[in-house]
Amino acid sequence: MNEKINLRDLQLSELEVLIKSLGQPVFRAKQVFQWIYKGVTDFAQMANVPKALREQLAELSQIGRLNILEIQKSKSDGTRKYLFELADGCTIESVFMKYKYGNSICVSSQAGCRMGCRFCASTRNGLMRHLSPGEILSQLLAAEADTGEKIGHIVVMGTGEPFDNYENLAAFLRIVNHKDGLHIGMRNITVSTCGLVPVIERFAEDFPQVNLAISLHGTTDAIRGAMMPVNQKYPLGILLKTCRAYTEKTGRRITFEYTLVNGVNDTDGDADRLCTLLRGMLCHVNLIPLNKVEESGFDTVSRERAAEFQQILEKRGIPATVRRELGTDIDAACGQLRLRKRQE
Ligand code: SAH
Repeated sequence: MNEKINLRDLQLSELEVLIKSLGQPVFRAKQVFQWIYKGVTDFAQMANVPKALREQLAELSQIGRLNILEIQKSKSDGTRKYLFELADGCTIESVFMKYKYGNSICVSSQAGCRMGCRFCASTRNGLMRHLSPGEILSQLLAAEADTGEKIGHIVVMGTGEPFDNYENLAAFLRIVNHKDGLHIGMRNITVSTCGLVPVIERFAEDFPQVNLAISLHGTTDAIRGAMMPVNQKYPLGILLKTCRAYTEKTGRRITFEYTLVNGVNDTDGDADRLCTLLRGMLCHVNLIPLNKVEESGFDTVSRERAAEFQQILEKRGIPATVRRELGTDIDAACGQLRLRKRQE
């Protein structure tokens, strides 16, 4: 394993401390920082940085490269799915997507996951480890380098539970937002959680401008609990109370993700209960027809059923959309590329 410091793990202020410790003037840190977020991974390319400093940096640090194991390219809509290998051999997935409003990337926050959602491929083999801030960031930079395109939006909805890796997530958000770095606006970033209540409260304090998405998926504790073990610790009542407090505090709309599973949470009664739970809340519901994971025992719903479910919500004044299907001709389902690779 590479023991060198990954410079993409550092805030500008931390890079300044490092550069000062090398006996170099502090202003050099900003130059190096700017190169890193222009996508440069080789110190030799840092034209305005003196050779002596470049050599010192190369000695003790590296600029977090990810090894691309596989790229799946959709022919229909430009979606690209990446399987990356980290320095220690762990694998993670990211998805590059093209939207009308620009390019977006879905990044992983952990290698594996320990939340245990029954329908999700990413949690099958448990948690390997947390990703560092630089490893989360490098997914974006690697996709920019591969596509040759700028990415302006980030969703933290890949493998892992971002709120189970909060310190590194927070460092990542501060680095991508930095004006001398990628300068991606907080409002262009969405973080999705399975509902770790104390961390939602912290997030509201720390990052009120970052969009929050909550994986709801069930309208009673029995249904949600059968899909998501986290519901035992943070049941619906407390979760929704926290969500209401979040919207009141931040004035920001919450997106509720609701994965539709045939015969489990897709009846008219479920739609009615969902409306009652969310009534009066500043929110939006994102309906996701289940991406079927082999052997999960869960089955997906038709696009028609998803549309009917959406209409029930809309009629009762709850804004809802059915997630657009991207990359249907590739292994689009969450975590499936990684899982398949392990089984090969
Ligand atoms: N851990 C975070 C983010 C990762 S998953 C969370 O739970 O929110 C991103 C979203 O995809 C979550 O709503 C998750 O429940 C959902 N998801 C996971 N596996 C899925 C599958 N097979 N089909 C549809 N949605 C899935």
